[in-house]
Amino acid sequence: MIDGLFAQAAHDDGREAFRTYLRDHNLPVTAQRLAIADVILGTDRHLSVEDVAKQLRSQGAAAGTATVYRTIEVLVRSGLVVERDFGEGFKRYEASRGVPHHEHLLCTNCGKVTEFRDERLERMTTLLAETHGYSRQRHRLVIHGLCSDCQRGAARSGVR
Ligand SMILES: [Zn+2]
Ligand SMILES: [Zn+2]
Repeated sequence: MIDGLFAQAAHDDGREAFRTYLRDHNLPVTAQRLAIADVILGTDRHLSVEDVAKQLRSQGAAAGTATVYRTIEVLVRSGLVVERDFGEGFKRYEASRGVPHHEHLLCTNCGKVTEFRDERLERMTTLLAETHGYSRQRHRLVIHGLCSDCQRGAARSGVR
């Protein structure tokens, strides 16, 4: 998580921005669509479509997978939500929250995602690009590994 307070403010703004986007594009502003937007905009987690559907069910606001897919598509098009592919065979979605570029750590055991940003890495990617005669535009880094909880679990069960 980068900044909790900022995330909350961004969430409220995001909900309003999504309403505006739907209206501007002549798309119906439905309770279902808003509930789906709330799930993604209200967290700093990186959710799969299945995660979103599960969360909706737990709130008693079940929506069909097709509706969840379509609404997420609209959210991505609006720029409020960013699509991530961590090579897991499914996509994840996170609120863009006005948060600048960042990288991800992905736990290969429990699927936990942690964000980080490091200026040294930013400089290094520019340097690497230039070394190869490129002018850097963007990059994406995902570090796969075991989170600290899963490492502790592995130590307890004697698996190392
Ligand atoms: Zn883990
Ligand atoms: Zn992220």
